[in-house]
Amino acid sequence: MKHSYALAIHGGAGVVPRAHMGEALSERYHTALRGILERVSDLLSEGESSVAAVEAAVCALEDDPLFNAGRGAVFTAAGGQEMDAAIMDGRDRRAGAVGGLLGPRNPVQVARVLMEQDGPLFMIGAGALAVARRAGLPFESEDYFRTEERQRSLEAFLELQARGERSSDPSLLHGTVGAVALDKQGNLAAATSTGGFTGKQSGRIGDSPIIGAGTFADNATCAVSATGSGEVFIRWTAASEIAARMQHAGEPLEAAANHVVQTVLAPRDGSGGLIAVDREGNISMPFNCEGMYRGSIRSDRPAETHIYR
Ligand code: ASP
Repeated sequence: MKHSYALAIHGGAGVVPRAHMGEALSERYHTALRGILERVSDLLSEGESSVAAVEAAVCALEDDPLFNAGRGAVFTAAGGQEMDAAIMDGRDRRAGAVGGLLGPRNPVQVARVLMEQDGPLFMIGAGALAVARRAGLPFESEDYFRTEERQRSLEAFLELQARGERSSDPSLLHGTVGAVALDKQGNLAAATSTGGFTGKQSGRIGDSPIIGAGTFADNATCAVSATGSGEVFIRWTAASEIAARMQHAGEPLEAAANHVVQTVLAPRDGSGGLIAVDREGNISMPFNCEGMYRGSIRSDRPAETHIYR
């Protein structure tokens, strides 16, 4: 193994366009990402598992209203919030996923509970909430999750929709959070969490909780967490396609991840990007849109964070 541990995180491809990004806001994003990378890499350096690391990183991103997941998730067309999340363990491909939740403070923790239980892998609605309650996970009121900024985004979205138009500002529409990690034991894991798209239809579920589309981990190849046009990522099984190219065509991580983002997804309206790590600790973070909130840290180098190219 080249590097003893590695961690990458993303805060989604729905970035504030460079022309509207002020210095203070940009600094808030960088500071949030850097803080999470540093805290979670301490866990990895102390020998914590990659599963614990990606869960901790995604919980922190869910708690931060800057990002579209957990607190600060975007609104559906009906003015609700419906959150999707997944987590996967590269040791044995165990996974857990939830869709359409509102209540648990950290949807990724509900996914983790499902992964640890020997039962259903993917749950929605009342059944998923009951699992979270039985596991004693923290719940929050609807007010906790709602932010004025997301409320304004929905209003702007509905006004434009009424005129038959659509906003071109990705930050008003979408975003997602995710983490991938390699731990000192050589195990990979991935986790992803999202509110989906502003103005999405109630009941719509994107790629984030779909294993092989928005989330994937297998020690034989890589761990991946994606963000972008969910329907396209699902149809082209974005995350597992990277693993398949590595496994069957012998491609290195960087080549496989770039191919999927630039050659498979981009020409098919699959705007977005992903973060990926392999067993050697190589990290790839390609995207085909203006930017992606992202950062990485490794046993051999300090945290770095980026928004645009
Ligand atoms: N992929 C997410 C979804 O389709 C949204 C995003 O990442 O921007 O729900």
